[in-house]
Amino acid sequence: MYLPKKNYFLLNLEIRNRLGDLASVSQILSEAKIEILNGSFNRGFGGKPGTWQIFVEPQNSNTTSEEMKRLLLSCPDVISCQIKESRDGLLVDTLTFPVKLSSGQRAMIMRNDIWNGMLQKTRDTFSSGADVIIYDQGMMAGKMTGRELLYALGKDKAAEHIDQIVSMYQGLGWGKAKLMSFIRSPLSLVIRMFESAECMGQKSSRPTGHFIRGHILGVAEEISGTEGKCTETNCLSLGNPYCEFVLEEKKRTK
Ligand SMILES: [Zn+2]
Repeated sequence: MYLPKKNYFLLNLEIRNRLGDLASVSQILSEAKIEILNGSFNRGFGGKPGTWQIFVEPQNSNTTSEEMKRLLLSCPDVISCQIKESRDGLLVDTLTFPVKLSSGQRAMIMRNDIWNGMLQKTRDTFSSGADVIIYDQGMMAGKMTGRELLYALGKDKAAEHIDQIVSMYQGLGWGKAKLMSFIRSPLSLVIRMFESAECMGQKSSRPTGHFIRGHILGVAEEISGTEGKCTETNCLSLGNPYCEFVLEEKKRTK
């Protein structure tokens, strides 16, 4: 975060799981004229404390991190408190490593344009072979996700909540995905994706959503226990207003 000429802090708080704990911490901060700028909160489950990371700016620019720490630890709802102060308006969050998804898995944040650049570099080097590499990578990632969903939800519940599973693409920032149709057997699925992170800004005579195409198929194959084929029938790269993926079960040969 960069706020020129501002003196602000990042607080990493562990707080007790009690109704009203956020309110009591907020009240202490507001009484000390410390403004909350932004942050993220996770309620602890299974006896674990909740965590609250917030950027704050004291109205009194002489406030020190020691004073702030004493103040916060005086609140019975605060178990522990780490504080980092900005320097010349710049503050890099080194307190919340590793970054985690709400499911608890470690994650990393990557700029979309860097990912696009990596894909483009792979295409530059391997030409059409890159499509296969990228598709295989997506497929591998999709199978991992599919296995986790199957483990967490079971086959029937995963099929029942397929629209929610599809909306995970939006939750993860990959694109605004919408389930257009779904038949469980024989498996058939159409997903429309607006503003795909993979295809935005690309221009091509062929669809370019190979990672997401592979991912969709990987998830679907793991959950359904069948083999399929996934085709991108519309794509931003072709000038279409969205990308659309059509998945069909492979015909069994006996
Ligand atoms: Zn596309």
